[in-house]
Amino acid sequence: MKYNREFEIAWQGLKPGPKTYVYDIDDRFMQEREAGEEFKNWNATIKMEFDKHENFFMLKFDIDGKVTVACDRCGEDFELKLWDEFSLVIKLMGVDETEIPEEEDDVVFISRADTVIDVSVWMYEFLMLSVPLQRIHPDTKQGKPGCNEEVLKLLDSLAEKEEEEEEPTNPLWKALKGIKIDEEATDNNKN
Ligand SMILES: [Zn+2]
Repeated sequence: MKYNREFEIAWQGLKPGPKTYVYDIDDRFMQEREAGEEFKNWNATIKMEFDKHENFFMLKFDIDGKVTVACDRCGEDFELKLWDEFSLVIKLMGVDETEIPEEEDDVVFISRADTVIDVSVWMYEFLMLSVPLQRIHPDTKQGKPGCNEEVLKLLDSLAEKEEEEEEPTNPLWKALKGIKIDEEATDNNKN
């Protein structure tokens, strides 16, 4: 059983105009909605503005928070800052379309009989969207990668090894393989 009560907006009782709601979103909220095990320690505040017009509502969601994720580069967990804005237009069905402003926002339709709108669905969706696809440790203040140094070194050496191993696939390199170029000398130059 999901605890949605606080996310239900009984719009008929609202005065026209904007009203702001503030929600604290925790791990439980997200995990109940199957956010996935790769995300931990959700902690976010969503400021939602619900602007009631006669035949439609404009919603703005301001996300500010954090979540722990594994870094795509070094695999270590880090705290990702979430900061994003989303908006949504909810239209009441059977209404003259021309009354509603042209917006690029997402538009959903509800029936007038739906007197209660559960906004938790969008909160979840927008929070998931606020997580970037590529998740990498932010750089340190000194401008260095914030990743685990040991892992970075290991990755570097693996990448070098891969390059070496790829060489023979090229026929030219295959032919040249017999001729030992002074590899050590070239390596020393690199350092
Ligand atoms: Zn990392």
